[in-house]
This record gives sequence, C-alpha cells and structure tokens, in this order.
Amino acid sequence: MTQDPLVIPFDNSYNQLPARFYTRLDPEPVPAPSLIAFNRQLARDMGITGGSDAELEAVFSGNTMPKAALPIAQVYSGHQFGQYNPYLGDGRALLLGETLGQDQKRRDIQLKGSGRTPYSRGGDGRAWLGPVLREYLVSEAMHHMGIATTRALAAVATGAPVLRETALPGAVLTRVADSHIRVGTFQFFAAQRDIDGLKTLLEYTIARHYPQADGALGLLKAVIEAQAKLIAQWMGVGFIHGVMNTDNCQIAGQTIDYGPCAFLDRYHPMRVYSSIDYAGRYAYGNQPNIIVWNMAQLATALMPLMPDTDAGISTFTAAVHAMPKQIDRYQRAVFAAKIGISAPKAGDNALIGDLLALMADGQADFTNSFRALGTVVARDQFLEPDKFDHWQERWQHRLDQEPDAESVMARSNPSIIPRNHRIEEMISAATNGDYAPFHRLLSAIKAPYSDAPEFADLRRPPSAEEEIEATFCGT
Ligand code: AMP
Ligand code: MG
Repeated sequence: MTQDPLVIPFDNSYNQLPARFYTRLDPEPVPAPSLIAFNRQLARDMGITGGSDAELEAVFSGNTMPKAALPIAQVYSGHQFGQYNPYLGDGRALLLGETLGQDQKRRDIQLKGSGRTPYSRGGDGRAWLGPVLREYLVSEAMHHMGIATTRALAAVATGAPVLRETALPGAVLTRVADSHIRVGTFQFFAAQRDIDGLKTLLEYTIARHYPQADGALGLLKAVIEAQAKLIAQWMGVGFIHGVMNTDNCQIAGQTIDYGPCAFLDRYHPMRVYSSIDYAGRYAYGNQPNIIVWNMAQLATALMPLMPDTDAGISTFTAAVHAMPKQIDRYQRAVFAAKIGISAPKAGDNALIGDLLALMADGQADFTNSFRALGTVVARDQFLEPDKFDHWQERWQHRLDQEPDAESVMARSNPSIIPRNHRIEEMISAATNGDYAPFHRLLSAIKAPYSDAPEFADLRRPPSAEEEIEATFCGT
C-alpha cells in the first residue's frame, strides 16, 4: 500500500512570543524508533494526513522534524508540594508547534521524553515506556469519559534504555493540548518581576483561551471557573491526579501531566496512591482545597498587572474566596447525576454524603457501587449490605420525582475505568515486549459507559494481591 506523505498543518504562535519565553532546540535522536500507537481519530480532527509507520515513528520519536515544526522548550516555574521552585520548564519535552484543524481548534503538539534541554536540571530528559503508556491510556480514558484533558497522539519506543533504578525501555509520548500554559508560566514572569513579559503572556492567553475575559481579573475568574468544573469531574470518577503542583495546573482547564495518578478502587475520602505524597497533600478528598490554593498562586502572579494594588487585592481575593462554593456547586451536580438526580434540591447533599459514608465504611468499590445503583447487585458492593438497604429506600423515594434517573445514571457512572492494577499489568507486559494488554485496555476505555461483556474482567476490582498500594512518578 502506498501512503501519502505525512502532513501536519502547523500554524505556530507561541514561538512568535519574545525569546525569553522559551529555548529553541531540536530533539535528541534515538537509535531504533518503533511505533506503538498512533491516534488516527485525533490526527484527523487535527487535520493531520498521510504518514507511513516509518514516517510516523521517525517524526514522533523526534528523529525527523516535520516541515514547519520549530521545536521549543517552554520556560515556567511552580510550587512543588507547596515549595516555590523558580526554574522549571520543559526538562524532557519539546513543543513542536501548533496545529489549526478543520474544526478551527488550535492545538499544541509536544514530544515528551525527547531529550535534555536547558531546563533538565539533573534529569536525563527521557521517559520510560511505563509512564508513557500510562499517560496515553489514562488521558484517553479521561477524554472518553468527557473530562477536559490533554490527549495522546502517538507513543513510540526509542530502542534506547533509560536508567532509573534499573535499565528500562525508553519511549516518547506525543501529547496534544489546548496549550501548555500553566499557572507556573505566570509565576515565572511574576517572580522575575518581568512585568512586560507577564503582560504579553496575559494578552496571549486571553486571545487564545478566553477571548471574552476582561484583563487579569477576567482571566483569573475564567480559570477558576474552568478548574472548579474540572476538579468536580475528577471527584466524580474517583480520579486522583497525585501531583497538583502549580506547574501541573493548566490555564485552559485541561487535566495535564499524568504522573503517579490513580483511580479509587475501594472508596476512601482521603486515599493517596503517590509514593512521594507523604503528607497526603494531594489526597483524593484534598483536591478541591488544593485547587483553591493553586488559584491563589495564580492570583498572586497576576497582581503586578493591577494598576490599583488595593482594589486588586480585594477583587482578586474575592474571586479566590468564591471558588469553594463554585466547586461545591459543580460537585453537587456531578454526584447528584451519579445517583440519578438531574435537578439537585436541598436535602440531596445529605443523601449523597450518607451514601459516600456507607461506601467508606463498607469498603465499597467506588466505580462499581455507583454503576450498580438501582440493580439487584448494588447491595453486594458493601461489607454490611443491610446498612445500604435503608439508604436505598430513602433514595428510591427521592427518585419518584426524577423521571430519567436510569439514563442519567447510565451516562454519569463509568463502567470501565483504567484500573490501577490493570495499568501495572499492562506496563509489565509492555516492558516484556507484549503490547496486547495496552491495545485491549485502550479499546475498552473508548466506551466507558458501555457494559460490553468482553471486558467484564476489566470491571472486576483488584483482589487483595492485585491491589496497588503506591504509584510512582512519571520520570
Ligand atoms: P513533573 O512534575 O513530572 O511534570 O516534572 C517537574 C519538572 O521536572 C518539569 O520541569 C519536568 O520537565 C522536569 N523533569 C521531570 N522528569 C525529567 C527528566 N527525566 N529529565 C529532565 N527533566 C525532567
Ligand atoms: Mg509537570
């Protein structure tokens, strides 16, 4: 079969910004690139056409630069576990450029794991296969569940080992995002007291993401709204990001930087999986608090743009203080829908809260318990089913006023999530050269609200031996 040459419709704008926003740099070549996955559907949306496997693996490993790509490493800073680090930036990633699709959507294409940059600090600039495939799967799962996220366009094995605790196979992920502007990007210019840079970034960001926003306050409010909605959605599917540092908090409101992320198996409100999160700063139930903290850092970074400091402080503070209520509102809507309620009323909070308390006590699997509501197996999800029966009666009574409960629940409670133990299993197989579990998981997560019988095994919660206690960083 002949294949038309690869065409990527680049239309770059970030590299038109002043030189201090990035470093212009090419990827480091890799010895033996081989294509693991290419997201044809996403490519089509982006207006990408053609490309043989050989061409795709050459381009998406960084070995060949496509026409009109002009790779740059972006600079940013950020609070990591609450500590400000003034010099971060793309230490193992390069932005190839932006595409403008038929849908007129502007998207960043970034290679992750493409080699060292001036921002690598002690790192090798590389990624190993495990985190690359984890990010590919989890980000695509989030997308198919309807949650704003960066996407995965390609995964390529490099043929070179990456040294971690042992030698592991290297890989490059091609990530697609609305942009890679982070809270930490604003923090960088604010900390440098580079007010011109900050102003340029503000104008660029507003034009690109929030054209209706009026100035710094308008941007702050728009980002707060987007993040409030996003975090409520995470909570609804039991997603734990794991590293909600301000450099991993994207201005456009997409989930970004999948590291030691995980999904709840058994429900516990303060569950932590990340091996580096000793204090539980980024625990499941702390995410709605931490995002407010992150928005306070964005507000602080934007402050120098306010002509009147006193008025600025009070309006910015009010915007941040309003956020917990916005998150509550979104979260109430998300969880109400999970129990079949499309128009939440006073009293529904207690119904939701009581169910979650029963789930915590009863060691219920988060995903399966919600999915089972209204079926005969619902009570079997709880250690002491009798306790659930009483709640179920109250709930049934409430549902008398909700005509569409069943269909609302069916589209609000995923049946398939990429479970932690399945991801680990998939990574082990891939490390041994077997990509079949990766491809199978990928096809399953494309229809998260379906009960397809061929994926019954992927719905089963982990046994005691299978249960994952800790997840590790993406590096
Ligand atoms: P993360 O929280 O994983 O997104 O990464 C935090 C910072 O560390 C970012 O500036 C990354 O670019 C950098 N970093 C992570 N892993 C590596 C690596 N293997 N080599 C160089 N820089 C890295
Ligand atoms: Mg990061």
